[in-house]
Amino acid sequence: MHISPTLSKKILAWYDNSRRNLPWRVSKKSPKKLYYRLLSEFMLQQTQVKTVIPYFNKFIRKYKTLEALADTREIDVLKLWEGLGYYRRAKNLLACSKTLVKNYNSKLPETLEEIKTLPGVGNYTGNALLGLIYNKPTIAVDGNVKRVFSRLFNKEDNKINFEKLILKNKKKLFNTNRNSDFVEGIMEFGALICKPKNPNCITCCLNKTCKYFKSRNKIKIIKKKMIKTKNYDIFCLINKKKQVALARNTNISFLKNFHLPIIKDSNILPINKNWKFLKNYKNSISNLKLNINLYYKFSRKIPSPYGWYSLERNKEFMPSFTKKIFKQLLNLF
Ligand code: SF4
Repeated sequence: MHISPTLSKKILAWYDNSRRNLPWRVSKKSPKKLYYRLLSEFMLQQTQVKTVIPYFNKFIRKYKTLEALADTREIDVLKLWEGLGYYRRAKNLLACSKTLVKNYNSKLPETLEEIKTLPGVGNYTGNALLGLIYNKPTIAVDGNVKRVFSRLFNKEDNKINFEKLILKNKKKLFNTNRNSDFVEGIMEFGALICKPKNPNCITCCLNKTCKYFKSRNKIKIIKKKMIKTKNYDIFCLINKKKQVALARNTNISFLKNFHLPIIKDSNILPINKNWKFLKNYKNSISNLKLNINLYYKFSRKIPSPYGWYSLERNKEFMPSFTKKIFKQLLNLF
């Protein structure tokens, strides 16, 4: 599979005219560049740009530099992150910023191998940062980039070895010395022009060489499937003082390491008649469907290691799902 040597120039020309004005896109020389890029890359994992923008602005207002973020407590970062979900990202962001400040003098390491040792940084984020911060010839292969290349060749993305493709075409892809713009430009192009549905082929700058555009037998872009449904039962022991029994969840992947009532995979614990059904929640996280039943009963005693927590305390950090449970339980009084 060969890539046209004009591809990067065309993408860059489009990007120069059409890119969105996003708050983390600061000038190449800005001292905030690493901090803003790190913050936005963590926030954008699994989350859309429009959802991220207000959170990004909140963070940079409160923590003006990477050092200021690294110097804060996890509970404060979680509080500010509240509502954005996937809280492991917030924990990793903080750990990553602490490592950069302490071990790397607030700079990004210069090799992918070293960047990938940072908390929460995998292949995709590592390549993105390497390109964005150091102008290195890398492409962060996200869903947008996969879609652009698979359409250019009219070949399903699971039939393309992207690493090999990029390596083989390195000279053609990175022939402008504007690698940081290219890394971002091609993702932006996938998000705005070569969209999953109804790509803007008629006006697209790549349509002369695009096999999808020319083909009568176009590939189908398959949406990421919801791979499984998880059924959970949540059992809330409550008392007359408007308190609920919580303990750190160390068993279930959903909200792992956060304080929750008794939570079980459905059907593990026989539900006896003392438990009263309160509500069913249906939710989707990434490619997982959640089906959660909430039960409660009044009790004076609680098993170890559970402790009583006031349902009315809401000042400290709490995942939004826990807040929903608290609200439902408070309605019982
Ligand atoms: S011509 Fe259409 S399918 Fe091909 S790259 Fe452009 S927008 Fe995507």
